[in-house]
Amino acid sequence: MALPLTAAHRRSIVIAVTAVLIVCYFMAIGREDHSTSFITLSTQWSTSKDSETVAVLDVKQPNETPSESSSSSKSKPSPTLANAIPQVSHPPHRANATLVMLARNSDLNGVISSVEQLEAKFNRKFNYPWVFLNDEPFSTDFKRRVSVLTDADVSFGLVPHEHWVQPDWIDEGRAQEGRNKLVRQGVIYGGSVSYRNMCRFNSGFFFRHELLTPYKWYWRVEPDVRYYCDLDYDPFLFMEDHDKIYGFTISMPEWEPTIPSLWSTVKNFVAEYPQYVSPDNSMDFLSDNAGDSYNMCHFWSNFEIADMDFWRGEAYTKFFEYLENTGGFYYERWGDAPVHSIAAALFTRKDQIHFFKDIGYKHAEFAHCPQGKQWREGHCSCDPNDNFDFAQNSCLRHFMRLHD
Ligand code: GDP
Ligand code: MN
Repeated sequence: MALPLTAAHRRSIVIAVTAVLIVCYFMAIGREDHSTSFITLSTQWSTSKDSETVAVLDVKQPNETPSESSSSSKSKPSPTLANAIPQVSHPPHRANATLVMLARNSDLNGVISSVEQLEAKFNRKFNYPWVFLNDEPFSTDFKRRVSVLTDADVSFGLVPHEHWVQPDWIDEGRAQEGRNKLVRQGVIYGGSVSYRNMCRFNSGFFFRHELLTPYKWYWRVEPDVRYYCDLDYDPFLFMEDHDKIYGFTISMPEWEPTIPSLWSTVKNFVAEYPQYVSPDNSMDFLSDNAGDSYNMCHFWSNFEIADMDFWRGEAYTKFFEYLENTGGFYYERWGDAPVHSIAAALFTRKDQIHFFKDIGYKHAEFAHCPQGKQWREGHCSCDPNDNFDFAQNSCLRHFMRLHD
């Protein structure tokens, strides 16, 4: 039954509608204010980084770091409308990534040192999980001392036996001869079987470990390394957003006696599987004569920020199997660094390999120390003169010339 509307009713309806419109208007203004403050924040924050980084930060940074978002106006809505507006909380945009370290129980002090630094310089803000792997069970003490260093998730895994030990089909007599030869030549780790296990594991197996299969990206960390500079952006998102596959800080030549037959094996593989070679590859990093011989240049794999899906993909899977079947990991002493580097250089586009020049890093006596603006803005604790980049033995100029 329709009720007749009096003038008073009509006035009430007009007032109610007007009130609703005013509330909607202020809600819209409130939202605009929020997004404006995001943009301001991200612009201010990113101007201090180099131009390559700015593009990443401008898009995503407002939601990424807890410290940034808690200091922005996002967390302080106006008191009158705060409870009326449904609060949509965006989870921080993070990559599907983990920090990973292979270590022995006896490496504990060096592990603590590396984790402590990387947490302070980077991960305290980003909280990426850590995965520690070992061919023996980690001790309770190891797990206790390492877990306490971070708020992020930490897992400790055992490497499956068959991913670690010298396979049965390897001719031990021939392997022993190979080891003796390297010992006679005075090559570091020449007589070590466990070092060979480690190199083969890092070449072909770590990314298949059950603790790593959930992840796409990893940052490889070693005991007793140095991280010198603050890292205020997310290198995994940088890799993702710029279509990168492999990131490094230091490059140098390999000891030739450890890989006498590696390059001929690579050449045979490429002849058999030319389809895996990228048309825009980095052969000029690996060779000074268009692939005829290997110049021994490789990215130093104790630091890697890279995409495990590349190692899991068809090209690298076939490549690793091909290398594995020659027994070169045991008859010689093939390192994971040249193996990874050759694959990354040949099977990706050259613009998919990234030099992290803003990450200050040292392993043993070799350091990469950022220079100039990046050194200042990263608050780097390294001596800018202690920098291997263009030392006589560095391969960085080979990498640079790819992009000339
Ligand atoms: P280098 O960098 O080539 O001198 O070799 P490292 O001795 O530093 O070993 C490389 C990485 O593998 C480090 O993270 C070590 O902790 C780890 N590693 C080497 N050998 C073993 C091993 O026998 N067992 C385990 N669990 N880790 C190892
Ligand atoms: Mn090392």
